[in-house]
Amino acid sequence: MKYEKIREQVLEAILDAVDQGLIKGTSGNIALRDDEDDVVAITPSGVPYKGMTLEDIAIVDLNGKWLDGNFKPSSEVPMHTAVMRARPDVKATVHTHAMFATIMAMGAEEIKATTPPQCEFVPVRVVPFTMPGSDEVADRVVEALGESGKSVLIKNHGMFCCGKNMKAAMSATVYTEEMAVTEYYARVLGNFEPMPQEAVDKMQALIAADQAV
Ligand SMILES: [Zn+2]
Repeated sequence: MKYEKIREQVLEAILDAVDQGLIKGTSGNIALRDDEDDVVAITPSGVPYKGMTLEDIAIVDLNGKWLDGNFKPSSEVPMHTAVMRARPDVKATVHTHAMFATIMAMGAEEIKATTPPQCEFVPVRVVPFTMPGSDEVADRVVEALGESGKSVLIKNHGMFCCGKNMKAAMSATVYTEEMAVTEYYARVLGNFEPMPQEAVDKMQALIAADQAV
């Protein structure tokens, strides 16, 4: 089978996201770019994830054109491929409707880091609602991520995360949802206090130095 390795990683990641409660039903989608060819493995549209096979994972080119797989690619393919075209450093992308990220996306403000590990993934901006699967939502996500962003919230929809590999993109997803949960409960209690920007900057410098080693 063509592109078996990237298909395996996408299938493994989507089942992991389902297990972690980050994805429910057939919502959410995950993509991974091949290291050598300009192709992307992406979850198919409308197919239940439990029992999914490697052949069910779609292969598309960087413009989203369907090349292979039993089912057509996710309708959100423009968002995943637009980010990969704009950001050569991004190999993996994850889009979910995780509950607390979706709740926090209803506000217009970015969510903040409240613990040291979350600092790696801020700023997490909020983009306004535009129709799912449209080039418009893809453009807004690309713009909000900028040159180095790892996570954005999409109003009335969910979140979109990316990383240099699947592990990094999944990590961004898990910590974005954790950030949203933490901020939600702290706000309910009336004691929300994000980490000071100076501490966030120091943590980001430490994380960057560690990754450089
Ligand atoms: Zn969606």
